[in-house]
Amino acid sequence: MRIILLGPPGAGKGTQAQYLVETYGIPHLSTGDMLRSAVAAQTEIGKKAEALMTAGQLVPDDVVAGIVAERLERPDCKTGFILDGFPRTLVQAQELHKILRAAAMPIDVVISLQVDEHALGNRIEGRAMEARAAGREVRSDDNPEVLKRRVSEYNGKISPVVEYYDSLGLLHAVNGMGDIAAVSSLIDAILSSTRFSINSGQQIADRFK
Ligand code: ADP
Repeated sequence: MRIILLGPPGAGKGTQAQYLVETYGIPHLSTGDMLRSAVAAQTEIGKKAEALMTAGQLVPDDVVAGIVAERLERPDCKTGFILDGFPRTLVQAQELHKILRAAAMPIDVVISLQVDEHALGNRIEGRAMEARAAGREVRSDDNPEVLKRRVSEYNGKISPVVEYYDSLGLLHAVNGMGDIAAVSSLIDAILSSTRFSINSGQQIADRFK
């Protein structure tokens, strides 16, 4: 199963992705995590991304698409994957389309987690408190000012991505305001019906039109 998770910062993408990893045994590809590793390792990409991330701005499309393309080549993606945090712009969605078409691996489903924006601040604050309590470092962008910027970056760029997947008939909106298990079961229901329609035998070439 090839899944894209969409949703603003704090929507619960990472939490639900973890559930999907355990349930379906497919890898979780988070561009945020990949970029944070690149920053920690101070690779060339990490050095380019660091200041942008700390300011809550997006890293350039080609940089992120390059990281994703490389990751998708690894053998664990053959049986499927969960993309989290990518694509975030229409250009990224188009790049992804090219990468997946070349690999004959069409996206099966796009799940958009819908949340009340007022709840996002509390969720991010909770995440920062949990990290502190566990002695982990708090993300440099998990603070109220940068969060505002991240949410507005997200909202400003995501609409054409949502429209794009909607026009392909892949988009499913899920209410992300319930508790974790409730959201997971909404996602499960969508994935079951998606699997049913995939198995109904539409050719891969048709799914790239
Ligand atoms: P968020 O909770 O804000 O969605 P992520 O962990 O997904 O957090 O991403 C953190 C930061 O990494 C973003 O604010 C952005 O700077 C960068 N980033 C992650 N994914 C992308 C992407 N697809 N395109 C551009 N920048 C990205």
